[in-house]
Amino acid sequence: MPNRGPCQHFDGARRLPAAGLCESIRREEQTHMATPGTSRRGRVSQKASRFTESVIREMTREALKHGAVNLSQGFPDFPAPEDLKRAAAAAINDDVNQYAVTWGAKDFREAIADKTRWFLGLEYDPEREITVTCGSTEGMIAVMMATVDPGEEVVLFEPFYENYAPDAILSGATPRYVPLRAPDWTFDPDELRAAFNERTKAVILCNPNNPTGKVFTREEMEFIASLCREFDALCFTDEIYEHIVYPRADREVEHISMAQLEGMKERTLVVNSMSKTYSVTGWRVGYVLAPADITGAVRKVHDFLTVGAAAPLQRAGAYALRMPPEYYEELRREYERRRDLLLPALEDVGFKVFRPDGAYYVMTDISAFGFAYDVEFTRHLIQRVGVACVPGSSFYSRPELGARQVRFCFCKRDETLEAAADRLRRLQSF
Ligand code: PLP
Repeated sequence: MPNRGPCQHFDGARRLPAAGLCESIRREEQTHMATPGTSRRGRVSQKASRFTESVIREMTREALKHGAVNLSQGFPDFPAPEDLKRAAAAAINDDVNQYAVTWGAKDFREAIADKTRWFLGLEYDPEREITVTCGSTEGMIAVMMATVDPGEEVVLFEPFYENYAPDAILSGATPRYVPLRAPDWTFDPDELRAAFNERTKAVILCNPNNPTGKVFTREEMEFIASLCREFDALCFTDEIYEHIVYPRADREVEHISMAQLEGMKERTLVVNSMSKTYSVTGWRVGYVLAPADITGAVRKVHDFLTVGAAAPLQRAGAYALRMPPEYYEELRREYERRRDLLLPALEDVGFKVFRPDGAYYVMTDISAFGFAYDVEFTRHLIQRVGVACVPGSSFYSRPELGARQVRFCFCKRDETLEAAADRLRRLQSF
């Protein structure tokens, strides 16, 4: 397999690697910030210069450009549930078309409270502890801006969902990274403890985890919780994949919310969304569950960031969150089936696969293919093989940590996964 040299960027453009924290990109952009002939002051903020555009979203554009099967960005290519679409259309026809209450329509907040009581067994007051946001993307940045002061630290497991690093920069937080190590993506308790100190404001937990597919065990969660209590830290937990967990023969896999653990509801901010559970990533409707005093701050930040999420889709959201338990079981089973379709296809052509216990991604090791970097491999895969994935480096603070990994998603129709499997066989012939 050819080694194509140490190229780190697609087409020489300044795009890759790592979302968030590329030093060379940062220096380069800062030098070019001022426009000649205007003033010496930069036209772009230092904050905005410190992270790149999203690599994940960029891979979707690359896939479109080259006609590649898109297994990069995590959105379903199958239809959303019919009755949910009808509920949304009905809401528009019923003229639910003006601003909802800033922190969320009452019926939607009540539906969130009911569903959370049913699924997690937790009580949240819709009037004081629930904020509806534009997806969990806005939920997480609103949470961070509402709680973190510049100079405070947030602990981040690495690899991480790429939004968290820019979120930290925008909120002024200093990230402290703690590695999750393949194949099981476990962390070293001593390393985690060493990341906490008196400046620690919060730990960010993505569970079930993107990109690794890890589902944190009760023991791991208890340990993280004990550190939060010891260091008086908050936990920001992204639970957008809460319904997507897969059984294992050797141990139980269950979704546990940090807010369910003893003494943790008071220091946990749960970020969640309709995007993945109801296959409506384009609706941009999410929510934050938090203690009342913090909810007040989250609502203020949210109000001035976006005013509110789409009113008719909140009405439809109230319908969605009252779906029967069978809906969630079917969702889970279907993703398990799709996982079991893609993983053997990847293994057959030489990927080392880290089998996910949850979410709908699989991280793989690409050492067998002989490329120097994940970015080169991804480019080859998109342009020559016709399948798009996400370079591993975009999930790490330092690109070299992910240089041997790429992530595929399997939230796609069978035809899409089969087309990808077909094309991947070409890898062997290059
Ligand atoms: N959080 C995680 C862990 C994700 O994987 C994604 C999307 O892939 C998001 C948040 C974005 O969610 P939303 O569409 O609700 O903004």
